[in-house]
Amino acid sequence: MSAPTRFDVDREQLAAILDGEPRYRLDQVWSGLYQQLQAPAELTNVPKALRARLEEVLPEALTPVTEQMSDRGDTVKFLWELAGGSRIETVLMLYPGRATVCVSTQAGCAMACGFCATGQAGFTRQLSTGEIVEQVVRAARRARDLDRRVSNVVFMGMGEPLANDTAVWSTVERLHADVGMSARHLTISTVGIVPGIRRLAERPLPVNLAVSLHAANDRLRDELVPINKRYPLAELTAACADYLRARGRRLSFEWALIDGVNDRPSDAAELAAIARRLPLHAHVNLIPLNPTPGWPTRGTPPDRVEGFRGRLEDLGVNVTVRRNRGTDIDAACGQLAAGQPVTLTLGGRRP
Ligand code: SF4
Repeated sequence: MSAPTRFDVDREQLAAILDGEPRYRLDQVWSGLYQQLQAPAELTNVPKALRARLEEVLPEALTPVTEQMSDRGDTVKFLWELAGGSRIETVLMLYPGRATVCVSTQAGCAMACGFCATGQAGFTRQLSTGEIVEQVVRAARRARDLDRRVSNVVFMGMGEPLANDTAVWSTVERLHADVGMSARHLTISTVGIVPGIRRLAERPLPVNLAVSLHAANDRLRDELVPINKRYPLAELTAACADYLRARGRRLSFEWALIDGVNDRPSDAAELAAIARRLPLHAHVNLIPLNPTPGWPTRGTPPDRVEGFRGRLEDLGVNVTVRRNRGTDIDAACGQLAAGQPVTLTLGGRRP
């Protein structure tokens, strides 16, 4: 475990670092970091020598490798290097009424979903709270440069959030208590770690849950999402139903549409049956699959995406087709791969 970084330290640890300073210093520094999104060097209300000391004892966790903006200027993708050399990605998505940051929670992923670039690369290590929080803060600073304010955070980047749920949950608490984000604007995704969903239902803040479903029968899901062999659909949907009953929050099913694999009328019927059985109907997000180097199949073509959507709507399901934002990040835990932007349209911007 490497040394704690800027956003790993909690208030108590920061108080220890500020020992000997006036009591109000703690609030000044804490709110500078979390609310004003300032680096220690920018804390002009703090003496210069202390700013320099804080820069030294609270180093940043993320070293920028590249930053890419989509041609339309509405998606910014950051590639960072961590201590130890792993690389992770963060995506900032700018919508008309909101700005969403999608964060990674692990370097790599052990879930081995075959269509996913991250899964193909395997698991490297867990991210710390500080490494996850800093992704939000750095993206929020970038949003501020563009005159935007980050309103939502989705834990849907690289990795399986519920396989790192201690760090993910302390990030949620930090974003809620210190950055000031409401739980309804925080979404944790999972590929179906049932004990993690059950732990989430016990947590004090009602965050949104997004389940990367991709198949609605065990035979196909075993193949696409291997963790399904451990937590099959009946167990997964029971945990989802209990989560909804406990939290009353929105639940979405993410469905990466793969040509000829999970886009048939029978898939729509099975998906609709699961979505409608839940106590509050799940919302379905459809995402045409991005091609990845190790998975030969293709995304469903646009006309059949519309057909699949229409079929679900006819079956009474609320459904959204995610506009392709280059990375399909809304989908996908998953389709991110450090160093190999899969379909991102580059605007040519690099820092
Ligand atoms: S789709 Fe998500 S859970 Fe599956 S391997 Fe990729 S990152 Fe991991």
